[in-house]
Amino acid sequence: MTKKRGLLIVISGPSGVGKDTLIQRLLEFNPNLRYSVSCTTRAPRPGEVDGVNYTFLSREQFEKLIEERAFLEYATYDGNLYGTLTERVESARNAGHDVVLKIEVQGAEQVRAKAPDGVFIFVVPPSTRELQRRQELRNSESSRDMASRRKIAEVEMTYASRYDHVVVNDDLERAAAEVLAIINEARARQT
Ligand code: 5GP
Repeated sequence: MTKKRGLLIVISGPSGVGKDTLIQRLLEFNPNLRYSVSCTTRAPRPGEVDGVNYTFLSREQFEKLIEERAFLEYATYDGNLYGTLTERVESARNAGHDVVLKIEVQGAEQVRAKAPDGVFIFVVPPSTRELQRRQELRNSESSRDMASRRKIAEVEMTYASRYDHVVVNDDLERAAAEVLAIINEARARQT
């Protein structure tokens, strides 16, 4: 029997909402799920590993890939380029794996146009105050970067209604269970 092609799951949400931890939890729970490692021109943060967290590229390398039409989507976020390689997504989906993308809202719009069968999930914080607290706790950015990301987060929140599902990350285990249920339901509906 041929394997079912995997689903495409798009997760967006404001900076600091806890997308990374949530996705980590999803990958632990669902062995069929694969994370598509994005490319970026942003500098690695302490502890980030090339090829694991991101493929870190120079702007020149990234622009060459744009010219080659290698990206399913790409966008500028806070002055840096971020993009999803089509090949990474397609090879995993063709092997029957569900693929999760962690991308910002402009990139998600591009994916929606190309893959309307995708499952689009927007993660929100329980409150704006809680988001600010988490952003401060993370403390990996300078205060200038944090202020800039906070402004972007305000704009991003206005995109929530464009997504199929909005999940409140009030509690990691609960939110992960909700996303897993969404994925299972989409799998069951797949023809
Ligand atoms: P960070 O610099 O905090 O890792 O990511 C900044 C933003 O870029 C986050 O909202 C993250 O989801 C988004 N992002 C990460 N990878 C991609 C990608 O491949 N494409 C797009 N459009 N956004 C991405």
